[in-house]
Amino acid sequence: MPTETFEFQVEARQLLQLMIHSVYSNKDVFLRELVSNASDALDKLRLAALRDDAPDADVSDLHIEIEIDDDARTLTVRDNGIGMSYDEVGQLIGTIANSGTAEFLKELKDAEEAAEGLIGQFGVGFYSGFMVADEVTLLTRRAGEGHGTRWTSRGEGTYTLETVDEAPQGTSVTLHLKPADPENQLHDYTSVWKIKEIVKRYSDFITWPIRLVPEKQGDGDDPPEPETLNSMKALWARPRDEVSDDEYHELYKHIGHDWRDPLETIRLQAEGTFEYQALLFLPAHAPHDLFTRDFQRGVQLYVKRVFIMDDCEALLPPYLRFVKGVVDAADLSLNVSREILQQDRHIEMMRRRLTKKVLSTVKDMKAKDLEKYATFWREFGAALKEGLVMDAENREAILAVSSFASTHDDSEPTTLAQYVERMKDGQDDIYYLTGESRQSIENSPHMEAFRDRGIEVLLLTDPVDEVWVDAVGEFDSRKLRSVAKGEIDLDAKDDGKDESEREKQSEDFAGLLGWMREQLDEDIKEVRLSSRLTVSPACVVSDAHDLTPALENMYRAMGQEVPRAKRILELNPGHELVKGLNQAYKEREDRTGLADTAELLHGLAVLAEGGQPKEPARFVKLVAERMERAL
Ligand code: ADP
Repeated sequence: MPTETFEFQVEARQLLQLMIHSVYSNKDVFLRELVSNASDALDKLRLAALRDDAPDADVSDLHIEIEIDDDARTLTVRDNGIGMSYDEVGQLIGTIANSGTAEFLKELKDAEEAAEGLIGQFGVGFYSGFMVADEVTLLTRRAGEGHGTRWTSRGEGTYTLETVDEAPQGTSVTLHLKPADPENQLHDYTSVWKIKEIVKRYSDFITWPIRLVPEKQGDGDDPPEPETLNSMKALWARPRDEVSDDEYHELYKHIGHDWRDPLETIRLQAEGTFEYQALLFLPAHAPHDLFTRDFQRGVQLYVKRVFIMDDCEALLPPYLRFVKGVVDAADLSLNVSREILQQDRHIEMMRRRLTKKVLSTVKDMKAKDLEKYATFWREFGAALKEGLVMDAENREAILAVSSFASTHDDSEPTTLAQYVERMKDGQDDIYYLTGESRQSIENSPHMEAFRDRGIEVLLLTDPVDEVWVDAVGEFDSRKLRSVAKGEIDLDAKDDGKDESEREKQSEDFAGLLGWMREQLDEDIKEVRLSSRLTVSPACVVSDAHDLTPALENMYRAMGQEVPRAKRILELNPGHELVKGLNQAYKEREDRTGLADTAELLHGLAVLAEGGQPKEPARFVKLVAERMERAL
């Protein structure tokens, strides 16, 4: 087959541009990325061999090799792992599979900090070679296949692919190094010393030998033995005091495909009948796709130091899907499948223990390092709160580390326990309001009376909030109550207003309320007077046991049929507009115009809570008519 030239996919080209005009101060990490890929390829081949999936593969001496050629100024990283077929090279190396990438790249443009994160998140590891090389050649042969594939690119717009007859099993990546430029952190990567240093620093824990191919000697000399540069020790099996934080962090970067240090490292050694070691990490940044359906979750599973699978979802519950790490179990079959793991009793016990360990780590973090906890909560709180719904067993533990924005303080979130401590005399319930943003909630008419009376309200803005408050129901024997649901009677506690006055008011408005209910029958099941409002004329609320509109929308988005629940319209009897409406209702025989006003009032109430009037065009027309009349 002739050499064919292909264009990089648009996103891939953008990323390459980032690499070439290198956004990183630290270019050494290209080697970590290549070694990491090589290590993965060796893991995959060993696994295939274990499962008898690679009958023709040679697995006798799996390793990684680094070769320096001073004269040609090249550096080659070679592995004899699984390799890639012609088609795979095109797919894996020429494109970026992740669909979120394009979108992310748009946001990113020149933000360097974000660009660093990009590398890790989208696994563009291989491209990082272009930080230090002006041309990269990849030669690969898929284990068991007859011929190989050569891929070459200068990182500009195109790459070439060609089939080659002879190629060793596995993959070698050859970098044609740019001239060294120490001022820009571009070191001389033909330096043996430098390469040793980088491997030691970033890749020491890699479980495969990383060998340095010795320089060629004069004719006749015996070639010296290659030197192994890494210790290959599994970090999770080593005592805590023998391992530095940096070493843990490098392991995290390798398995978490992240560029940055983790927020927290968690070690767990379980002895007894079912032995295992776990090394888990809480990342410092939530991946952008954490809430998408195809988010890859789970930690790596090893069995007695042998890599078994990535993304082992059986080891942690879905709400901890952001946790990265390694679990190494002593007594599992090397052939264990995902299906078996889902049902295994030991795995189930392990999941429970690991879950508790993660939660207790967050709790410690909250007690000892508030700033760190705040970062954690900002990044992963929305995911963790899913556990309040799904994991009844750990609900208390999750609630204990959950914090929420509140009207008490603009910047500091509060726990439920702190809220309860601040509750006013006579206040029985914990109040909250859900919405799109803090601002929209704070401006919602439902808040008016609470603000007036200085009653604290939790401001909940994550989609999951609507769900967990229902599932949890109460805290410390106090009901969690939405200020936009059901009847809220703050006046009952208010000695200022007497009972008979309120009764008189009800009688006075009874006619209007009944008439309005009929007018708005399609959307409203009740019209009543409100004690929530001080400034706004009206608001809509949901019945105590009905779904809120946000929740209805969420179910619909998930493809579930839910009927639209009619809501309740509350009027502010102290508002001039409402008083006037009542007056007009009593005086007029012909109520046609009044019906439009009732409709408008309902529309205003919907708008005020961030919703949309049912027929926006009609709403606008009615408003415009009235404005015209007022001129
Ligand atoms: P990542 O490693 O984060 O997935 P890369 O761009 O580095 O991203 O690699 C893309 C894909 O190319 C890898 O997921 C892997 O399937 C394949 N690949 C890269 N290097 C090798 C290698 N040495 N051997 C086999 N496959 C490789």
